[in-house]
Amino acid sequence: MFAHNKRLQYTVRVGEANPGLANLLLEQFGGPQGELAAACRYFTQYVGEDDPGRKDMLIDIATEELSHLEIIGHLVAMLNKGAKGELAEAVDTEAELYQKLHGAGNDSHVTQVLYGGGPALTNSGGQLWNAGYIDTIGEPTADLRSNIAAEARAKIIYERLINVTDDPGVKDTLMFLMTREVAHQKSFEKALYSISPNFPPGKLPGDPKFADTYFNLSQGEGDMEGSWNSDTNFKRVDNWDEMSAVDGGDGSASVGLDADATEVVNAMAARTASDPVADPVTGAELGSGLHPDDEPLP
Ligand code: MN
Ligand code: MN
Repeated sequence: MFAHNKRLQYTVRVGEANPGLANLLLEQFGGPQGELAAACRYFTQYVGEDDPGRKDMLIDIATEELSHLEIIGHLVAMLNKGAKGELAEAVDTEAELYQKLHGAGNDSHVTQVLYGGGPALTNSGGQLWNAGYIDTIGEPTADLRSNIAAEARAKIIYERLINVTDDPGVKDTLMFLMTREVAHQKSFEKALYSISPNFPPGKLPGDPKFADTYFNLSQGEGDMEGSWNSDTNFKRVDNWDEMSAVDGGDGSASVGLDADATEVVNAMAARTASDPVADPVTGAELGSGLHPDDEPLP
């Protein structure tokens, strides 16, 4: 069950209303790296998880992410508060209101005019939130890696948002939210490395013929060597002749078909065959005013 505590997880102190900043913060409310995506990601993983340790961690963190959603939502609401009232009560002239919502590169018209100043489940560009932001596949060694990356991305978005505001209260709250993503990343890493073995993800090992091979498929100036591709850790292949077909076959694609299917496929191929000697006149040529038999222009 869920219960709710009236106090936020972190106090929201906004110095002054700022609809443009509110709009940017929507990125972490209804954007792909935002708190709703994080909460839904860990909540659904919690429901599907059988391991008691991970199940407990996932619902702890899912619940914290919902609490973050509550914080970022209140930041948006506070930053929008003045403008919301001004628009609702039409206290300014039309031109003044328009300037406030749309002036100085401020995109807050989406949140103000369309959503009335409340925190909408969109990203900062107005894109609607969608469940496609969550890439869970139900294998913990893959999902934990994705969670680590999701926390890393959320941390970076918070860092960028901190860099665009000089409101000390907003900065302070964003710093808390950013820091918690660092802590979550650490928990997910610990949980990943608590599974042994955890690489490669899943049960099947890779084919040893290719598992440690590095194909140097872009060659020329700029070719570099490091631990990620050198012979110390990989069998590095630079010779083009050894890159296809690496199974030793002829590199073609084939399929076994019965006689009926073969007949239909051949009939379609015959019907749609291109004639290499045809030179048909095209609409573009007719429209150019030149007859195809005319001398070409110099
Ligand atoms: Mn969070
Ligand atoms: Mn997090």
